[in-house]
Amino acid sequence: MSNTLQTQLLIIGGGPGGYIAGIRAGQLGVKTIVVEGVNPGGTCLNIGCIPSKALIHAAEEFAKVTAYAAGTSPLGISVQAPSLDLAKTVAWKAGIVKKLTGGVSALLKKNGAQLIKGWATIVDGKTVEIAGAAEDGGTLRITCEHLLLATGSVPVELPFLPFGGKVISSTEALSPTSLPKQLIVVGGGYIGLELGTVYRKLGCEVTVVEAQDRILPAYDAELTKPVATHLEKSGVKLLTGHSVLGLADNGQLRVRDKDGNEIVLDADQILVAVGRRPKTDGFNLESLQLDLTGKAIKIDEQCKTSMRNVWAIGDVAGEPMLAHRAMAQGELVAEIVSGKKRHFVPAAIPAVCFTDPEIVVVGLSPDEAKAQGIETKVALFPFAANGRAMSLESTDGFVRVVARSSDHRILGWQAVGVQVSELSIAFVQSIEMGATLEDIAGTIHPHPTLGEAVQEAALRALGHALHI
Ligand code: FAD
Ligand code: NAD
Repeated sequence: MSNTLQTQLLIIGGGPGGYIAGIRAGQLGVKTIVVEGVNPGGTCLNIGCIPSKALIHAAEEFAKVTAYAAGTSPLGISVQAPSLDLAKTVAWKAGIVKKLTGGVSALLKKNGAQLIKGWATIVDGKTVEIAGAAEDGGTLRITCEHLLLATGSVPVELPFLPFGGKVISSTEALSPTSLPKQLIVVGGGYIGLELGTVYRKLGCEVTVVEAQDRILPAYDAELTKPVATHLEKSGVKLLTGHSVLGLADNGQLRVRDKDGNEIVLDADQILVAVGRRPKTDGFNLESLQLDLTGKAIKIDEQCKTSMRNVWAIGDVAGEPMLAHRAMAQGELVAEIVSGKKRHFVPAAIPAVCFTDPEIVVVGLSPDEAKAQGIETKVALFPFAANGRAMSLESTDGFVRVVARSSDHRILGWQAVGVQVSELSIAFVQSIEMGATLEDIAGTIHPHPTLGEAVQEAALRALGHALHI
């Protein structure tokens, strides 16, 4: 590799946004370079979606056999006391990550996109430098026609509870070398609840400190109630309406309770999960003086920034910070750069929280529709009336549909329950395809499946549910 390279598309960041853009651009014959400072796959594959879901599965399996060992299973299954080889669990998770990140490198190569390892520093809107990436170990300078910013996000650090020592972020929580006896999770959002559940299922005492008056405050209370109930039943302490103040000299966590009194909590480890912020610092991005929306790079419907031929996708371009949104935007920018006409106007972006039970939100909630002045038909079908849910020993939760009263067009779906993450595909497809309640009600849903609750919710909205 010489000290200078020239390319059509230069992508900074090899996460789901950047690597998908690289693959698609390569497929379309666009000369492309992806620069990644850490590891291909980004947050999602290395320290996010995939490792967290692997640990959620491992913890679920451990909790299952622990329950069998207690001898109370109605299924008549009993086992001897289980044990956990944590190092093996973490190594299994790391194996999945390695396979997937290796796959990303291979896919980029197969499609003709060049992956360069190193930290990109912006020189101007058409030039970046990467220290140590040149053939002679010096600085590599790359010039491009199009610059795509896909630098992702980093965990928000609380100034009065900085990361270090017993205060950890999700990254450390995903690679434990030992389990804390007492874990305090600050933030009852996606990460706090997904990982808090993992640690509880692995046997730790877990307390969640959430500033708002309920967990997952972005979702409506009806939807989050089964999760809160399940967490409390499993022994997780939920301190909602509490805010952290910092660490006391003896290492206890100082917290302000609902009444404004200061209390202290014991903790071996404190996982801070109070959100993520776009990664816009540390690579001279400020020199481009791009327009921002809050802390995120401002983009239009084509992922264009305020500078010509500079694009931004994924977490660095703000909410929703979800891998599938980053991927969809990555594909779109690659196609536009190749000459195609594309706009990012999805009918809905699904969100799934992999708690126990899981939560899915797609499109408008009843309250959101109301706020937009839309008259709706809303119906809910409970899993308590679904045979498949009974056979999975999990009847908590429901599927809820929101449709426009005037023409029955489906505007939103929400669900909470076992394995509802897999129903999100049906939900988003129905909205993207402009389906009506009648379309879903008239589709034969296989029996026995959780998906029958989707059809039943539509039938119920039409006034003739069959199993309730
Ligand atoms: P990232 O994946 O953050 O990738 C950005 C990449 O850019 C990084 O690899 C970084 O090293 C690199 N980079 C940054 N600056 C530079 C530079 N100057 N030079 C070179 N490289 C640079 N989302 C979901 O949809 N589903 C989930 O289940 C889910 N679970 C999650 C669990 C956890 C614990 C976390 C933390 C996140 C989770 N997310 C999930 C969110 C998801 O990981 C992000 O939305 C997604 O990774 C965003 O993709 P991205 O390409 O925008 O950025
Ligand atoms: P989050 O926004 O989901 O939750 C943060 C929570 O912390 C909120 O409930 C907030 O009220 C609370 N909070 C904020 N400041 C606080 C304080 N000082 N004390 C106590 N509570 C406080 O953020 P997260 O859980 O860190 O996750 C970050 C992002 O990563 C998510 O928003 C999502 O975009 C992505 N993610 C997605 C998934 C998924 O799709 N399954 C999983 C994990 C992460």
